[in-house]
Amino acid sequence: MPNASSETLDVVIAGGGVAGLAAALAITRLPGKPLSIALIDPAALPGAAASPAPSTWDLRVYAMAPKVLAWLAELGVAPLLDTSRTQPIAEMHVAAGAPPKGLLLSAYEVGQTELAVVMEEALLARALRTALQVGAKVRWIRGSVSALTQAEDEGVVEIHVDTDGAAQTLRTRLLLGADGKHSRVRDLAGIPFTRTPYGQTGVVAHFGSSRPHHAGAWQWFGADDVLALLPLPASADVRSAAQAHSGQAVSMVWSMPAEQAERWLADEAGHAALEAALAGRVRPAGFELTRVSALAGFELALAKVPQPAKGRVLLIGDAAHGVHPLAGQGLNLGLHGVMALHQALAERESFRDCGDPRVLARAVRAHAERVAGMQLLTDQLATLFHPTRPWGRWAAGAMNLLGYSHVLKSRLVRAALA
Ligand SMILES: Cc1cc2nc3c(=O)[nH]c(=O)nc-3n(C[C@H](O)[C@H](O)[C@H](O)COP(=O)(O)OP(=O)(O)OC[C@H]3O[C@@H](n4cnc5c(N)ncnc54)[C@H](O)[C@@H]3O)c2cc1C
Repeated sequence: MPNASSETLDVVIAGGGVAGLAAALAITRLPGKPLSIALIDPAALPGAAASPAPSTWDLRVYAMAPKVLAWLAELGVAPLLDTSRTQPIAEMHVAAGAPPKGLLLSAYEVGQTELAVVMEEALLARALRTALQVGAKVRWIRGSVSALTQAEDEGVVEIHVDTDGAAQTLRTRLLLGADGKHSRVRDLAGIPFTRTPYGQTGVVAHFGSSRPHHAGAWQWFGADDVLALLPLPASADVRSAAQAHSGQAVSMVWSMPAEQAERWLADEAGHAALEAALAGRVRPAGFELTRVSALAGFELALAKVPQPAKGRVLLIGDAAHGVHPLAGQGLNLGLHGVMALHQALAERESFRDCGDPRVLARAVRAHAERVAGMQLLTDQLATLFHPTRPWGRWAAGAMNLLGYSHVLKSRLVRAALA
């Protein structure tokens, strides 16, 4: 490997998405002697935090869970989030089949003000980058991890990084693979995983709405699709495009068969067909929608990594698991994994360094049940109403009937808040 530095860093993070950034920030907040950290990403630029807010809305919009937000607040991220671009969800309308039937889950029923807070990925990433630049000493490296070796007898990982025009080698006690669903670190470390495509695409776009959303989110389960509308704040960028529609805007995530999405995303005629189908679906709930953004599609797959730690390498975020987006939990799950790592590092014995395989095994164990539970839940829900399922029709009726049980509804709401 070329020009290996003799310095050994404590932590190298491959991937500067939200999971990698949150891990970097959490590690800088550990008590005791500060750990040396490098963060590698093809797009990682230290000055990016100072860049102006995007003039259009990021198509990647997430519903962040209260527990995750409370943890981010402890790390000092909350004051850095531009609240004019965030939107709490106070209630959730869930239905099997056509609206307006279904179940209403309300945060107020359990004495809370919100079930989740909707925000753009870019907003969250920018807040994390800003927090990392205040006082924290993280070395930013623009590049990609392209090779690694674990020298177990020395207790280090050697990482080869391809950077613009040059290559460098880093040595570290702990390598975090936060490099997303196609993780190179996972492959290079030889960590086995399975990826089972759902044969579905998640189609996303933002719309101006004819009716106010009243901080509500909507989700309709069809035979082979799931349509969700998340409320967006009445912030300037969206409102100007949607002014003719009462200044209200929503973000759509429509998980549909991949061939259907391919046809509808292909050209203008396809877009018009999608909008017509959408209009038919949401009209009974009182929505008339006007698209105010581009359309984008994400291939959906269930990804399982039975052992996300190997030696001194630990996978986090989408590198470690992939779930169907119908519960809006992929990133929340990734951040719970970072929380588990943070706790395992904070509680490690003084004789163990941060990459000690036993510390990583504790982080994995603490997170494993949540990952398995979320994968099972989302996987079952994704196909629950499919006509090939013998109980599909029964399940649809049961979901709509749930709306009459206060106790069951409270349980569901509490589960959503976890
Ligand atoms: C349609 C849809 C809707 C969703 N809605 C929600 C929601 O409401 N709530 C929610 O919690 N989740 C949601 N998710 C899931 C969420 O998008 C992902 O879980 C999240 O983006 C994963 O973040 P990450 O940081 O792990 O990975 P990524 O965001 O993929 O970041 C990976 C980073 O690694 C970098 N990288 C790649 N290769 C290398 C390399 N070789 N070396 C160094 N760096 C590298 C990349 O440049 C990138 O910056 C949704 C997903 C989809 C598809």
